[in-house]
Amino acid sequence: MLPKTADIVIIGGGCMGAATAHYLAARGAGKVLLLEREKFLAMGSTGRNAGGVRYQFSTEVNVRLSQFSLAVIARFEELFGISAAYRPIGYLFLLTTPHAVTAFQANVAMQNRLGVTDARYLTPSEIAALAPRVNLEGVLGGTFCPRDGLADPNSVTQGFAKSARAHGAQIETETTVTGIKTAGGRIVAVVTDRGEVATHTVVNCAGPWAAQIGALAGIAIPIAPVRRQFFTTDALPQIPHDHPMTIEFATTLYFHPEGAGLLVGMSNADETPGDTYAIDEEFHLTTLERALYRLPLIENARVASQTAGLYEVTPDAEPILAQARALPGFYIAAGFSGHGFQHAPATGKVMSELILDGKATTIDIAMLDLERFAEGRLIQEGNVV
Ligand SMILES: Cc1cc2nc3c(=O)[nH]c(=O)nc-3n(C[C@H](O)[C@H](O)[C@H](O)COP(=O)(O)OP(=O)(O)OC[C@H]3O[C@@H](n4cnc5c(N)ncnc54)[C@H](O)[C@@H]3O)c2cc1C
Repeated sequence: MLPKTADIVIIGGGCMGAATAHYLAARGAGKVLLLEREKFLAMGSTGRNAGGVRYQFSTEVNVRLSQFSLAVIARFEELFGISAAYRPIGYLFLLTTPHAVTAFQANVAMQNRLGVTDARYLTPSEIAALAPRVNLEGVLGGTFCPRDGLADPNSVTQGFAKSARAHGAQIETETTVTGIKTAGGRIVAVVTDRGEVATHTVVNCAGPWAAQIGALAGIAIPIAPVRRQFFTTDALPQIPHDHPMTIEFATTLYFHPEGAGLLVGMSNADETPGDTYAIDEEFHLTTLERALYRLPLIENARVASQTAGLYEVTPDAEPILAQARALPGFYIAAGFSGHGFQHAPATGKVMSELILDGKATTIDIAMLDLERFAEGRLIQEGNVV
């Protein structure tokens, strides 16, 4: 039954909502209520992503979010009783322009300085030794971190949700938030299709739909849903199970082992914002063509499945982890721009600190405020695919 009151209402049952519910409930934050409109958790972007986890980012804050999160993901079974299926196969970035080489060398130096000491720059011959099946035509160099890899977003979401419930949080699915009531500059209630919940605190974890939830509260949030798609192949025994996640940075083509085959994706630079899961067959063929160029072996496999999901894109490709200055009690944890799953543990942790202590202490997230867009303080994560 939907409760009449809650201390904190979290909107959205993807990895961010579940992680935030866990860290809040584990701190004894009072009555924590998570609302999700779908029948199950993780049916939004969390259930439609490529499962990549990495330390290799271009901004310090993203590296720090990864350091906290990957430590949790690596120990997930011990902590939450369910494996996150972490597979450290490494991420290999292929760089084809002198500008990218310079930028990624600087990224590696920053990552090393922050303690990711195993991230390194590779020459073309070192790349050839690591990934001999990849066509390295035009590749000037690359970067690699062996602890980057893959994990399972569904297991991570379920593990956090189970723990949140065990700590007293309530999770209600098939509950759509339709309004947020305010009075005197404060939140007073969340309105749903199943009734109203009185509360003063809301956490917007609605991913690609975060702007819609903002609008319900009169807060403009610059997060747009943008379609991204990938396909999987049937068995490709020539590719070792531990082949690194490989990314051609200039085109965003990426592929990694998935089941007995591969998962292959690429971002369409011409995609306009929109809320659709329809497959763009023309762009699928563009992706396939590029994949055949970089990994000719793919011609031996058939396409087994195609998936489209939504990136939750901000103007600087960095998330918003903050309380809205214009509406105290309205918190936002969204806008990861296509690389959020791996940051769910750190997000839950820092949001719990922000809400309960007034400030995040595990990681400094002050620069990830909502107001940076209006005030021209964009950060710009450059390592987005
Ligand atoms: C193709 C693709 C590949 C990706 N690959 C990676 C990757 O390799 N690594 C990585 O880290 N990240 C990746 N991502 C990004 C990652 O999936 C997202 O950053 C992450 O899942 C965001 O989680 P979330 O909980 O914020 O959003 P979501 O999982 O979308 O959850 C938001 C939830 O809010 C609910 N909701 C919305 N409106 C309402 C409402 N009015 N009432 C109630 N509930 C509501 C939705 O139903 C949804 O379940 C990828 C994304 C895509 C699309």
